Amino acid sequence: MRDQKQNRRSPSETLFIHLLLHLGFSKPLLSEAHLREGAKAFGKRSVERASEMIEGRLAHQMHQWPTRPSNKVPGKGVTSNGHLIEMSLLAATMYYLYGERVHEELSMQEVINAFDLYTNIRESAGAVAKRVSPDTAFYLSRELVSHYAFIPYCSNCGVRYYSSVEQKIKNACPFCKEVGHGDCNLS
Ligand SMILES: [Zn+2]
Repeated sequence: MRDQKQNRRSPSETLFIHLLLHLGFSKPLLSEAHLREGAKAFGKRSVERASEMIEGRLAHQMHQWPTRPSNKVPGKGVTSNGHLIEMSLLAATMYYLYGERVHEELSMQEVINAFDLYTNIRESAGAVAKRVSPDTAFYLSRELVSHYAFIPYCSNCGVRYYSSVEQKIKNACPFCKEVGHGDCNLS
């Protein structure tokens, strides 16, 4: 009985899961991630149950928003300057909204806010590469916490960009190729 009670989710939590599924977050991520501050992870069954309640197609399916690749270490997926620009738009958006707090743990809602703004910005900028997936956006926020990734400032271009210790191309501003302030400066 006690277990049942603990597993029961409130309608607002179920709706939150529905929103995240529509946006294209994967079920494994939603099962394991701490979606609410101080709350336990939802677990596979809760997410599965919430997902079964959705009728029809998900928003990401209807609009063909990319949901892959889902990189647990987003830096490893950065293999071209186009990718680096996409990740930079997202990382700079996080920094614009939350400043140095990006290196603490952003909440799921904050990740969504940044992802939403990134999506709008990249559309007006014209597509450079494939849109970053929601899962990768979440993992980026965790990469910033573990200091695998940084958001240095390029004074030439007046922009912030993404820089990861794991990226496959040079750590530098994706626009002018100079090394900015706060970059990892690996050599
Ligand atoms: Zn630059």
